Amino acid sequence: MRVVLMGPPGAGKGTQADLLKERSGKPKLSTGDMLRAAVAEGSPVGKQVDEIMKRGDLVPDDLMVAIIEERIKKPDCASGYILDGFPRTVAQAETLDKMLKKHNLALDHIFYLDVDEEVVVERFAGRRVAPKSGRTYHVRFNPPKVTGICDDSGEELVQRSDDKEEVVRHRLTVYREQTAPVLEYYRKQGRLETVDGMQPVEKVYEAISQRLHGAAA
Ligand code: ADP
Ligand code: AMP
Repeated sequence: MRVVLMGPPGAGKGTQADLLKERSGKPKLSTGDMLRAAVAEGSPVGKQVDEIMKRGDLVPDDLMVAIIEERIKKPDCASGYILDGFPRTVAQAETLDKMLKKHNLALDHIFYLDVDEEVVVERFAGRRVAPKSGRTYHVRFNPPKVTGICDDSGEELVQRSDDKEEVVRHRLTVYREQTAPVLEYYRKQGRLETVDGMQPVEKVYEAISQRLHGAAA
């Protein structure tokens, strides 16, 4: 089960990836989470990407590909994984296909969470994240059991610095210019599976799950 979740920032990719991970046991590979962890550690990669992420721009393809290539070689990825936030450019999508082909593998499902832009903006405003576990909540649509605290790790929830309105607007432009062409890349190959991402979290999960297993998990 090699699954990609596509869609604009705020579409619900991380939320669905968390549920898929929890219920399938497959690892969630969120490039955003990996980069934020590198920034928090102050590693050389973290120092390189910190400003880029704060602006809402994309990290260079060669760095992203190197990070993903190393990650998918790990034993926990042998029976599949859920990609959240990668690929984000056509070059990344092409390299991923080549990387998998070398091992006679391919992606099994590419889901596009289709969500209107106004809805995405509303989701950003209320998004809260657990910095260590990467788990995502929304103050209204997907609240934690205890306000401000992660259900799993007990950490205090924070607002991402790139969820500020001006950065969000820029990230949506970057998405339209650099990531939307990836949808076309997969669509032309007949591999894109569109899911209505405007439904409640569990309904979106059900739609994905039905395509994965032929029935709700
Ligand atoms: P992405 O990973 O695509 O950027 P997230 O999974 O972080 O998006 O979701 C963005 C925000 O919207 C979060 O606050 C999340 O709790 C909320 N959210 C996710 N899916 C839904 C949904 N189906 N309905 C309402 N809110 C949602
Ligand atoms: P996300 O958590 O997916 O919203 O990603 C947060 C930020 O990390 C993005 O705005 C980019 O700066 C960076 N990023 C994450 N994934 C990628 C990727 N595949 N390619 C380039 N930049 C990325």
